[in-house]
Amino acid sequence: MKKIKKKTLSTPFYLFIVNGLTLCFGFIFFIVISLSALERTSVIQAKKNLRTFAYSLANIMQNKNNLLLYEPENYEELKEEGYRTIDRFVKYTASHDPAFRVTIVDENGTVVADSDMDLNMVGNHIDREEIKEALSGREGSSIRRSSIYDQNLIYYAIPFNYLGKNLALRLSIPVQENAFFSSSIRSDSIISALIVLSFVLVISFLIAGKVLNPLNELEETARHYQEGDFEYSPNISSPVEFVELAKTFTSMSQTIRKNIQDISKQRDELQTVFSGITEAIVVFNVDLQILQLNDVAMSFFLVGDVKNLKEKDALVAVVKNTEIINFVKQLICGEANKTEIETKLVASEEKTVAAEHAPRSVLVRCVKINDSINTDERYLLVVTDISRLKRLERVRKDFVANVSHELKTPITAIKGFIETLQDGAVEEPETARHFLGIMEQQSLRLINIIEDLLTLSKLEQNEIAIETEQVALQTLVADVFNTYYHVAASKNISLSQVFLPDETSIDVFVNPGLFSQAISNLVDNAIKYCPEHSQVKLTASLETKKPDGSPRRNPVVHIFVEDNGPGIPENARSRIFERFYRFDSGRSREDGGTGLGLSIVRHIIELHGGTVRAVSRPDGQEGACFEIMLPVRKQKRKV
Ligand code: ADP
Repeated sequence: MKKIKKKTLSTPFYLFIVNGLTLCFGFIFFIVISLSALERTSVIQAKKNLRTFAYSLANIMQNKNNLLLYEPENYEELKEEGYRTIDRFVKYTASHDPAFRVTIVDENGTVVADSDMDLNMVGNHIDREEIKEALSGREGSSIRRSSIYDQNLIYYAIPFNYLGKNLALRLSIPVQENAFFSSSIRSDSIISALIVLSFVLVISFLIAGKVLNPLNELEETARHYQEGDFEYSPNISSPVEFVELAKTFTSMSQTIRKNIQDISKQRDELQTVFSGITEAIVVFNVDLQILQLNDVAMSFFLVGDVKNLKEKDALVAVVKNTEIINFVKQLICGEANKTEIETKLVASEEKTVAAEHAPRSVLVRCVKINDSINTDERYLLVVTDISRLKRLERVRKDFVANVSHELKTPITAIKGFIETLQDGAVEEPETARHFLGIMEQQSLRLINIIEDLLTLSKLEQNEIAIETEQVALQTLVADVFNTYYHVAASKNISLSQVFLPDETSIDVFVNPGLFSQAISNLVDNAIKYCPEHSQVKLTASLETKKPDGSPRRNPVVHIFVEDNGPGIPENARSRIFERFYRFDSGRSREDGGTGLGLSIVRHIIELHGGTVRAVSRPDGQEGACFEIMLPVRKQKRKV
């Protein structure tokens, strides 16, 4: 069905129409009432005049001498002709004013004299109301339409005694000819009323406009507020009621502005908290429609299309984990007996979580939101990634097992040799010396492990103060090489250091003791795992430019410690920095390794703000190669 559009009138036009119509009706009513009152008054006045004139005329006619004054030559005739005389008299008298009609009727209703009509042409007047009255001795009057003149006449009749006969003397005058009710009075009244009406209408239109200016201003103000512009304040100086209203508008806008500011501030704070939280947070309702979720949840559950979140069961599609959904559904139904569960999110084909993180251990908590404003039930789902915690727990367990194992091996060996010695081997000096030598070796191994563990523990707990100082790297490396000179020489291993580009030393800000230990561990490993006649080389270069050629803000020292020994398999390179990790455990232990050396190296380098990793040798040759990137300037210590 077509909707009929209602035409709306503007307020000034509406007021003008309403006022105009009211005034028009008022004026028409006033004019009608006034004119009818005027008409009534003028008719009464006309009747009075007719009466006065009728009696005057009667008096004149009752005195024959008077008649003779008008027609002296017809005196004789007058005496004999009776009624004909007065007929001529009235014709003569009324000829001065054609508006007047004088009629004299005898008691039979016969017209005996008439100023306007030939007596032969006039009918009997006995049925005329005013005539009846006059013939019965009373004055009578009426207003009616005359068939002869075809207009409304005012009739007035009085009893008239003439020559001993009771007659009726009647005067009449057209209503229109009445001086008090002429058409000019009527038209003048209407014209002046119209002039006054127009004047009043113009005034009322101007007043309406004056009243409407503040109304328009208030409408403009309301429009600004509707569009969110609460800075706008209405400019109204009168009338006083509108000034008060404008003040109320202004204070209302200030209150709204303040409320909006408060709400925005709270919302921003909440948003900051919401997005700053490291947990994935999802707010949903009983239909499992997602109402809100933070950035962590977006990346955690790999939410790509946010449009479908408002759909029913959107949570199922996003979370893609039956255990979590069942838990949530139980909670909604009130059947859940716990508020958190631990589960695993596996990177499935549907990509529940990012594949590189899979599988993730998560702690899922869900609570109903207590909300006094919203009546629909809403729930908060918090998913915490506890994979790291779990991994750390595993590392801790592994570490304890490893330490126990590492310590148990030399202790078991020492205990075994002690028992053997006690069983009689002590009596054989040669054997005893050999056993004691092994026991010393195992004790040293124990000491090494314990020292390394203590160092690591201190490094991890940041107990070692990293007091850095400017050191010439060449001197520091030379000192380390000197320490290992004899060990290397015993295996015919050469130690060399190269400083690029032109053998000038590089100054670095390091803790000399710790940094020497890191370099020592790498050199020690190289000597330990390389066969005789190998070469161990340390190359250092200062890099002031990035690989793309642009200058570095913080220049770095690039150090390679390489050897041409058996090398480290590529698949083991990422793990050799873990504690007790050995890819060739038998040989490592034989060589006196504790499995903690590289772990200590990584800690020290990282404490200096640098990185260390096992890489392939730059020249592509076989052998191990460790690359250290160390900032030259003093670095803020990372905790
Ligand atoms: P370890 O005390 O056993 O040497 P590290 O943490 O220093 O422990 O080294 C871890 C493992 O890395 C060693 O067991 C060894 O297998 C390997 N490795 C370290 N440096 C070298 C090297 N230069 N050549 C070959 N293997 C090495």
